[in-house]
Amino acid sequence: MRILFVASEAYPLIKTGGLADVAGALPVALAEAGEDVRLLLPAYPDALDRLKDKERGAHLGDPIGVGEVKLINGRLPGGDGPGGDGPGNGVPVSLVHCPPLYDRPGNPYLGPDGRDWPDNHLRFGLLSRVAAMLGVSSETGMARPDIIHANDWQTGLVPAYLRHWGGPIPATVFTVHNLAYQGRFPGETIGPLGLPRAYMSMHGLEFNGDLSFLKAGLYYSDRITTVSPTYAHEIQTDGEGQGFQGLLRARDKDLVGILNGEDDRIWDPAHDPDIHHPFSSARLSGKALDKSDLQREMGLEERAGFMLFGVISRFAEQKGIDLVLEAVSDIVANGGQVAMLGSGEPALEEACRVAARSHPGRVAVRVGFDESLAHRMQAGCDSLLMPSRFEPCGLSQLYALRYGTLPVVRHTGGLADTVVDAGDRENGTGFVFWDPNIAEFQGALHRAMALYRQPGLWQEMQRRAMGQDFSWRRAAEGYRRLYRGLI
Ligand code: ADP
Repeated sequence: MRILFVASEAYPLIKTGGLADVAGALPVALAEAGEDVRLLLPAYPDALDRLKDKERGAHLGDPIGVGEVKLINGRLPGGDGPGGDGPGNGVPVSLVHCPPLYDRPGNPYLGPDGRDWPDNHLRFGLLSRVAAMLGVSSETGMARPDIIHANDWQTGLVPAYLRHWGGPIPATVFTVHNLAYQGRFPGETIGPLGLPRAYMSMHGLEFNGDLSFLKAGLYYSDRITTVSPTYAHEIQTDGEGQGFQGLLRARDKDLVGILNGEDDRIWDPAHDPDIHHPFSSARLSGKALDKSDLQREMGLEERAGFMLFGVISRFAEQKGIDLVLEAVSDIVANGGQVAMLGSGEPALEEACRVAARSHPGRVAVRVGFDESLAHRMQAGCDSLLMPSRFEPCGLSQLYALRYGTLPVVRHTGGLADTVVDAGDRENGTGFVFWDPNIAEFQGALHRAMALYRQPGLWQEMQRRAMGQDFSWRRAAEGYRRLYRGLI
């Protein structure tokens, strides 16, 4: 099957979160399973720099009146660590080159002031439109795909354009990585995007008076997937459907949850170029050395006996960072340390800095995005905290399991599907609590700290966690089945 996979970020070209991990790994797994996959992304400066084997592609004219658009074709770098040349890399990539929209440094969604770029509707409208153009025209120099697989709101207009243009069109799959990001813009933006005004209705793109790119994906795609079975169920409920539950319930038969995988080319403690002391479930000793390295790097007291909790996260309400901050004093009082890496809401960033200043040597924070430090934290921490209010899949807990960094998670979305509570003696891999309140979270933390004081039991659980299989191969099979059903 020929598949065009379109997304707004893909590791290692550009990354702000889990979507990039998925878009950098699933196409590789599909290619390894024998599918003909191409990835489509905007030509951000970082993505252009990192693309391998660059060459000029088709000229596409000026489809939305902001400037000439052309494709730059190349291959995905990857495998055996960032920028590496190991197996599995080389998936074909096309970047949508339109300098007035994409030639901007830094974060793909936000300007230097931390706000959304004001023309994001055009930036991601164009991405969607180019994907749809590749779906209907062979003048682009590329064979037409059988399937276009679009991801999150930034690509939600793909099936809307295809529906509008009609004719023989590829089947579409739309994956929701996070329903909270809805790509909402004033209704009048529909004109410049080249879609008919009649589409601005309840039976179309309209969502509470706005145009929603996410709604377009949910409404017009042939199939909807989301990134874990539990989240697929949750988003159909009034509590968690963010206003889309009615539409999602109506499309129940077209909606499936396929659990994300974990990229063991990139996240493998035995072969991780970012850590100094490799380790494995058979030889855990390196992990203790990685822990002292991390304590030193973060300016934490270098003591093996302090249980070190880590947070690697966007600082957003979704992630329950406020619960971590509430729990910090108790963790410290019980002989623990907390290392935090993240960025996002300024108030949370500041609150983390205050926590670090209040507990020198015991609490540390790095505000920013640092892929390499994220690896050293997964390796050096004893436990990863993810008290998320909702979590479509969550990848950080999968990496934590792989690194024997037993996660403390809330029972929601993909966290519920991937972490088994320690109360299950045979299968436990972490610590699970149910309600997002401080008492329940602290209960789980105390259970973690108690088990940590029993090294034999702790190591047994670490080994079990490290042996879990969340491979992309399994996930890719799920998507292949879905694609086959569509063509
Ligand atoms: P989400 O996609 O909601 O942000 P996930 O758990 O699915 O959450 O994926 C998060 C990904 O982003 C992981 O690869 C994690 O290591 C990475 N990440 C998050 N914040 C940072 C940061 N500040 N620095 C480096 N990596 C980060």
